[in-house]
Amino acid sequence: MSALHYPAITEYRLPKKNLMVISCIDLRLTDDLLNFLHFDNLANRYDHFALAGASICTGATRDEHKELFKTEVLEHYKNFAHWKQCLHDHLEIAISLHAIKDVYIVEHEDCGAYKAFLKDGVFASWEEELNCHKTFAVALSKELHSAYKLNVHCFMIDIRGNVKLLDTAPHA
Ligand SMILES: [Zn+2]
Repeated sequence: MSALHYPAITEYRLPKKNLMVISCIDLRLTDDLLNFLHFDNLANRYDHFALAGASICTGATRDEHKELFKTEVLEHYKNFAHWKQCLHDHLEIAISLHAIKDVYIVEHEDCGAYKAFLKDGVFASWEEELNCHKTFAVALSKELHSAYKLNVHCFMIDIRGNVKLLDTAPHA
């Protein structure tokens, strides 16, 4: 078995305290996500909040990203405002209960929620898919960093379980 590729230790500051992990619900990557978190020495140090598409729901409440969504999806999910509220509510109680200092936003390849929620043709290649996830993840990262002064690290997992760093905040 070949070794998985994870970000280098110099690419972001590893959390020293507790954190919240925000991931998709995708069942194919449950073990891969766990392996990565254990690799970062985070076993039993994180609250795990899983929602379809990870950061994508918060994009639907932003004017600059709303146009990427299918109109019927925005109507059905009411711009995902209640998803976003739920995420913030859980993050606030996690900060209160567990002194959360960091957040991992973990996006992934071949996300069914991205396909279901976004207009067809938003991305056609791996690079475009990566950039699309990065757009939503970084936007959420900025919101969480400014609202709660948390360190936020955004990652992309491919379907083999390799992990790539998309962004880390605050920037050095
Ligand atoms: Zn997904």
